[in-house]
Amino acid sequence: MSPFAPMNTLRGVLAAIEALPLPGPVRILNLCGDQERVISLAGMRKVLPRRVKLLSGPGCAASICPEADLYQAIQLVQREAVTLLVSDNMLQLPLGRHVFGPRTLLEARQKGADVRVVSAPIEAVLIARAEPRREMVFFAAGFETLLAPLAGMVLEGLPENLSVLLCGRRVEPLIEKILSSEDPGFEALLLPGNRCAVTGTAAWEAMTQNFRIPAAVAAYTSTGLLAAIHAVLQQRCADEARVDNCYQPMVRPEGDAMALDRLYRVFDIVEGAWRGVGRVEQTAFRLRFAYNVVNADSRHPDYRGELQKSAGEMPDGCECAAVLLGKQEPADCRQFSVSCHIDSPYGPCMASEDGTCYLRSGGYRAA
Ligand code: SF4
Repeated sequence: MSPFAPMNTLRGVLAAIEALPLPGPVRILNLCGDQERVISLAGMRKVLPRRVKLLSGPGCAASICPEADLYQAIQLVQREAVTLLVSDNMLQLPLGRHVFGPRTLLEARQKGADVRVVSAPIEAVLIARAEPRREMVFFAAGFETLLAPLAGMVLEGLPENLSVLLCGRRVEPLIEKILSSEDPGFEALLLPGNRCAVTGTAAWEAMTQNFRIPAAVAAYTSTGLLAAIHAVLQQRCADEARVDNCYQPMVRPEGDAMALDRLYRVFDIVEGAWRGVGRVEQTAFRLRFAYNVVNADSRHPDYRGELQKSAGEMPDGCECAAVLLGKQEPADCRQFSVSCHIDSPYGPCMASEDGTCYLRSGGYRAA
């Protein structure tokens, strides 16, 4: 490979990465399903030096959605007179084996429940407006990039027949908790560009300083991701730790002031459950009391308690809990490509298009 290829080309960045005098193996954790898709699609793991390992972290909002919330959604759409509006990647998300009735929203739909797919919060609003006599619930699982526009719509006023079943998460405190553990399992971080465009990078800056871990905000192209990988490796070589912004001009340290204002006017930040991981403080968005009227939990019965009597968080034998944290590769799971496939997912990481097992099994090619 030519060492003279410019740094804004794939060949140039790869050459620059290969030329780095790495002090040892480096494991880099990414936190975004969209970035993991680019990494998998480009076969990036095969072209990087052997000492550089790319790990996939908790970047799929569907995979980390607690089983109790999924159960609640399935029960609501079956037992109440409601339409459930949900993103495509939630449809096949499975409950554990030990439940009576449908294990997924897709199965519930096949049994006659009114489950409809939406690709953005505005679509949920338009559908609710079109059928004002029908009670609708938008099951919203996502990070700040989903929640900021949702907050804007709540502030403008949702249709009276629309409420929100919310599973909104922020990842920073979870990563901080992992970094505080004895063996985090990674030495550098790739940060999600679009989310950082909303939140800014202050929390990540503090983390890089406190834990002496290199980080870089990454874009969504192969070259952009490689540039971010080069940035963290360069820091590692120089024994430095900071946030390099490789997604300019989209990301500014202070974030998007208008989006943040909307987010924090509409949502509180509370302790949140992450499927397979457990509860982590300051990671869940909850509708503020002033917006209780659009909270599906205040309008409909809560069925979550039924599940806790009999079921666990992951299906038996599913290793998603370890896969979600980058501690295990999908292929290490005995179910991978045996009893767990993209067309018949057994665990949550195979059920969503952003899930690590889905992406590693080539699901993006089948999509
Ligand atoms: S292959 Fe299937 S069962 Fe195994 S960790 Fe992935 S999603 Fe879970």
